[in-house]
Amino acid sequence: MKSVRSLAQCKVLVRHCQRCRWIESNIEAVRCIYNKTGVWIPRLTNETRLEIEKYWRPHIQKHDAEKAQETKQATCEKPKFYALCMFPYPSGNLHLGHVRVYTLSDVMARYQQAQGKAVIHPMGWDAFGLPAENAAIERGVRPKDWTYSNIKRMKQQLQNLGLSFDWSREVATCDPEYYKWTQWIFLKMYEKGLAFQKKGLVNWDPVDMTVLADEQIDDQGCSWRSGAEVEQKYLTQWYLRTTVFSESLLDGLNEVDSSLWRDIIKLQKNWISECKGHRVEFKILQQDSESLSSDSLTIYTEDVDLIYGISHICVKPSSYLCVDLGVQDEGTILPVQAIHPLTDQPVSMVVTNEKDMYVNKETMLAIPSISKTARTVANEYGFPFHDVLDGTEERLKNSGEFNGLSRQEATSKVQEKLLALGLGGERVSEQLNDWLISRQRYWGTPIPVIHCDRCGTVPVPYEDLPVELPDVKQLISKGGQSPLADNETWLHTTCPKCGGPAKRETDTMDTFVDSTWYFLRFLDSKNQLMAFDPALAKKYMPVDLYIGGKEHAVLHLYFARFVNHFLHSLDLLPCREPFGNLLTQGMVNGMSYRVKATGKYIPVDQVDQSGKRPFEKETGAELITEFEKMSKSKYNGVDPKDVLSEFGIDSTRLCILSNVSPHSDRNWSNDVYKGVLTWQGKVWTLVTNFRHHRSLGSSEDEIKSESITLKAEDHEEWEKKIDDIRNHIINNINFQLDVTFHINSAISRLHSYTSWLTKVPSEVSRASKAYERALADLIVMISPMAPHYASELWSGFKPCTLYESHDWASDVLDQGWPRLDDDFMMPLTYRINNVDVSEIGVPYKMFDELTKEIALSLVQQDPTFCRLMTKPMDIDNYHLKIDKGFKALLSLKVPDLDLGIDKSATASEKTKQARKLGKQRKKLRTMEVNNASSS
Ligand SMILES: [Zn+2]
Repeated sequence: MKSVRSLAQCKVLVRHCQRCRWIESNIEAVRCIYNKTGVWIPRLTNETRLEIEKYWRPHIQKHDAEKAQETKQATCEKPKFYALCMFPYPSGNLHLGHVRVYTLSDVMARYQQAQGKAVIHPMGWDAFGLPAENAAIERGVRPKDWTYSNIKRMKQQLQNLGLSFDWSREVATCDPEYYKWTQWIFLKMYEKGLAFQKKGLVNWDPVDMTVLADEQIDDQGCSWRSGAEVEQKYLTQWYLRTTVFSESLLDGLNEVDSSLWRDIIKLQKNWISECKGHRVEFKILQQDSESLSSDSLTIYTEDVDLIYGISHICVKPSSYLCVDLGVQDEGTILPVQAIHPLTDQPVSMVVTNEKDMYVNKETMLAIPSISKTARTVANEYGFPFHDVLDGTEERLKNSGEFNGLSRQEATSKVQEKLLALGLGGERVSEQLNDWLISRQRYWGTPIPVIHCDRCGTVPVPYEDLPVELPDVKQLISKGGQSPLADNETWLHTTCPKCGGPAKRETDTMDTFVDSTWYFLRFLDSKNQLMAFDPALAKKYMPVDLYIGGKEHAVLHLYFARFVNHFLHSLDLLPCREPFGNLLTQGMVNGMSYRVKATGKYIPVDQVDQSGKRPFEKETGAELITEFEKMSKSKYNGVDPKDVLSEFGIDSTRLCILSNVSPHSDRNWSNDVYKGVLTWQGKVWTLVTNFRHHRSLGSSEDEIKSESITLKAEDHEEWEKKIDDIRNHIINNINFQLDVTFHINSAISRLHSYTSWLTKVPSEVSRASKAYERALADLIVMISPMAPHYASELWSGFKPCTLYESHDWASDVLDQGWPRLDDDFMMPLTYRINNVDVSEIGVPYKMFDELTKEIALSLVQQDPTFCRLMTKPMDIDNYHLKIDKGFKALLSLKVPDLDLGIDKSATASEKTKQARKLGKQRKKLRTMEVNNASSS
């Protein structure tokens, strides 16, 4: 070690090894970027870490923008990967939950990019909704100004996180350029009869002064947003006919990856519930019995085949029909009649006790052939009806074209007919209702409809979209009407049909409508002529991985799926299910302190932590500590700003990814940084040492001659061992990142890999081709998780390389993902009679083409197998399961083979023994692998 004369960029005297330019000192004031100074700092200090991020951020942003641009090129022929995270509500402040979800999606996006995919990783804003309106009322600002200034602030915060979002695709749902197309989708639904108005009893939130959908009320009957106890009110509202797609939405759940969707599938199935009945629509005859009312009745029935046998319709006293007509006494006949959809005959309606009805429904068909009550009532009132079942009660009579059919045959024939007439017919569930979407609030997408005294409800013509939100003076709604009603100039318009005076619809849409299709707009965010180009949707849908919170598993996912099923029915989408795979991430919890006696929460700076148990500083009161969802009232929030400025982006990213599976809740503690920083230091030291050893000779020959202490065959053996470990690690990490999304497990593999590489003797690493490649691959595999840190490691590492394994001229983010060697043995486990027997290897190059026949012939050559098969025995059947190219399992049934399991044992004992045997063999195998890797 000598004292260095001077270093151009860092004008500080430091001790330094001239051969490898290894600085050995306290380097407080040194600007320490290798690319700038050509000086490698041997120890990774906090300052270096922050300095690295500052230097690399613009480089990485440029790289990300170029990659995003490349994906957008029509000529791009790479396979696609659409990584989507749920877009945020622009509250103005980023919290750790955001940091977690976006870091997860960023790792997946960068990983897939390294795998050679054209990755779409967009970001935007779910920008309509009540908080903006409430903030505006409190602070006297316009909701628009409040929202856009929040978007600006949050975007800046996100851009500081080193995330690879393609900002050229950015959308905000409150932008007229966006909601024009939300309105367009609404009008398409209106055209198909799927958007309709209905008078009825609705859920009213007295705090937010708006109606709520059933889905937005919790089990206690309170609003999901305000928490207020929900009241019931009679109002005319807009609905989307989600029920029409209920069967499709149930079936679609078979098309998604069941392993990751599992819990969600359960919730969604439960929500929709079994489709046992049909929807039938009855037009209503006005009181004068001559003209049809604009209203119609949608009736749920589980006996649609018996539709010719209706005597009357039962109506709940609480239904809007009864309330509207002022007829609510049980047994009263309504002064209006319904029209039978198949016979066109008028049908009477009777106010009927609620307990006989289907759950959740206001009406029911009365069919005397199957209901004694219906027969009694019909006879009493003299309603005409026919018996529609023959003597066997299995075939139809008096049912027109359906006579003689079995009930089952008739069900599908009647269904077909109703569908053809556009009067229902869809299979629906008893539980599910249509989606109530109108809200009496200002800050939302205006419903594009005009009300004319002469023409009734008229849709706004497509060419007049968007119906823009005007400014209003008052945001507080009056008596259930939207504040939009106050803007007279906006409200009054002309009818598109007759040109007469008319009024605009003043309700706006539930914000859940806005977020049903944002991922489609991301594909084509600047399109002025269409919501999105179907050709682009065909190329990029479905979303390959959707990441977001569990709390959206019912509402948002259900609504988004519904709209996609609808757009698919219009041939605008290649698939009805929008999300191929789903990663629901857990929450980030913070430590809270609560006074035991009073339950009062106190901030951490008032806690005395010096003793065994924490106490309140001032009073000495005993405290309860707990990890809970972060919230202001519990003083347990962590501001990302604070940790980022202290530890930097990459360490924070690693911290939030390590130790805990993305699916689980994460209890936030700065202690996790310790492990992260230690590991980062270890990898840094690996590169430092590598530089040092490599610089001991300036050419390959010199280096090799200096490693003369190692015998040639030892060197050969080390090369093999290093290659083997490298392959094992890559295979395992691929599995975590492709299949389980356990990024934490992938990081833990990288930790083991680092420790193992640290143990490779310097006389090996100095000249080893395998070691050079293995270390390069470690840096490449770190890069999706910590891109700045990996970029700096790479630039310090590559000048000392001797072999051609990587593209040394490019940065680490441009390296392809490490590939397995062709001769690497992929694990093929074989299982006989449900017991895992042994594992053999299949060369990687053969693995993709592995068939069950090839697998069997390989297994038959395995010595363990030969030992077991003491005589020729029949193999009853066998099948092969390949786990997306990471491992394979061959299951064999050999009835004559005794695997040493006691035959007299009971079934459960047998299973236990078999499991124990399987475990033992696994343990043995693990020991073998460990021995191989640690000698
Ligand atoms: Zn008109």
